[in-house]
Amino acid sequence: MALKKTLTIAGSDTSAGAGMQADLKTFQELDTYGMVALTSIVTMDTKTWSHDVTPLPFDVFEKQLATAISIGPDAVKTGMLGTEEIIKRAGEAFVESGADYFVVDPVMVCKGENEVLNPGNTDAMIKYLLPKATVVTPNLFEAGQLANLGTLTSIEDMKEAAKIIHDHGAQHVIIKGGKALDQDKSYDLYFDGDKFYQLSTDMFQQSYNHGAGCTFAAATTAYLANGKSPREAVIAAKAFVASAIKHGWKMNEFVGPVDHGAYNRIEHIDIDVTEV
Ligand code: ADP
Repeated sequence: MALKKTLTIAGSDTSAGAGMQADLKTFQELDTYGMVALTSIVTMDTKTWSHDVTPLPFDVFEKQLATAISIGPDAVKTGMLGTEEIIKRAGEAFVESGADYFVVDPVMVCKGENEVLNPGNTDAMIKYLLPKATVVTPNLFEAGQLANLGTLTSIEDMKEAAKIIHDHGAQHVIIKGGKALDQDKSYDLYFDGDKFYQLSTDMFQQSYNHGAGCTFAAATTAYLANGKSPREAVIAAKAFVASAIKHGWKMNEFVGPVDHGAYNRIEHIDIDVTEV
């Protein structure tokens, strides 16, 4: 049987833990044919590891979209888009592609950097991406921004934010509490427009988790492409990324990526799912 085709519209992380590298590795691990339309290239200062983002010319981006769309993706994922123009174009590209599923990872900052890439981008995501999203995968910070609720600190806050984000048009919302919620477990909140579910695992090491968010959204995309329902897909994606985080490794004194292949190569981790 032909592989389902998954397309990521994202930036390149040269260190390859996050960005389109994480997406392609995850797509491959989960038996889909991964493709990429690159928005920008992120490099690191080797002395400080501060990130430098080099956008690609817009016409080069356009030509990649045309190529990828002609191949016919079954599912499309977005990662770091960077500008309002690209955000708008990514939403249009999903529609033009005729793909069945659209996973929006509303990346607002590079991990380790605190500055929001561009505040206007949040409004553009609300306008151009959320109404088309099958699943949107904000972390706590991004959910607070998309819902305009500021800092979220509890499952109750997450429920309120998920409702607002769903009202913006996203069919399914998963807010990643992850390490940011500051609990003994890693809690994510899933909302299908009707019911809320809390997904949890043990909290694993927190030092070497570069790329966790991208890997989670890419896994969701691949599982949808291969036929899981959105609820099944986010639960399976959390299991996939849990293994990846547990086996994250130190790359240098600044960063350690997740192990994108740990789920297939090392171990499966159980996810606790509770209606809340
Ligand atoms: P982002 O990279 O977008 O900030 P996160 O790293 O918060 O995303 O979350 C990605 C996924 O990994 C979520 O399911 C989150 O709950 C999970 N996660 C993050 N950190 C840990 C950890 N230390 N142990 C277990 N799960 C984690």
